[in-house]
Amino acid sequence: MNTCLNCNRSEEQIPLLVMQFRNKTVHICPQCLPVLIHKPENLAEKLPGMEIIKPAEHEH
Ligand SMILES: [Zn+2]
Repeated sequence: MNTCLNCNRSEEQIPLLVMQFRNKTVHICPQCLPVLIHKPENLAEKLPGMEIIKPAEHEH
């Protein structure tokens, strides 16, 4: 069964979004998507090889 890579809830509990990463299919739920967007480093160990781009310091 597919589960969210962050919270491990299953597709029977919550709709899961499907993503492709390094030729693998990974799933994440909508609640965890902001984590991937804003805190990708929190998921780095779940997605080995993911490039983490640190947010730039404010320039404006
Ligand atoms: Zn989740």
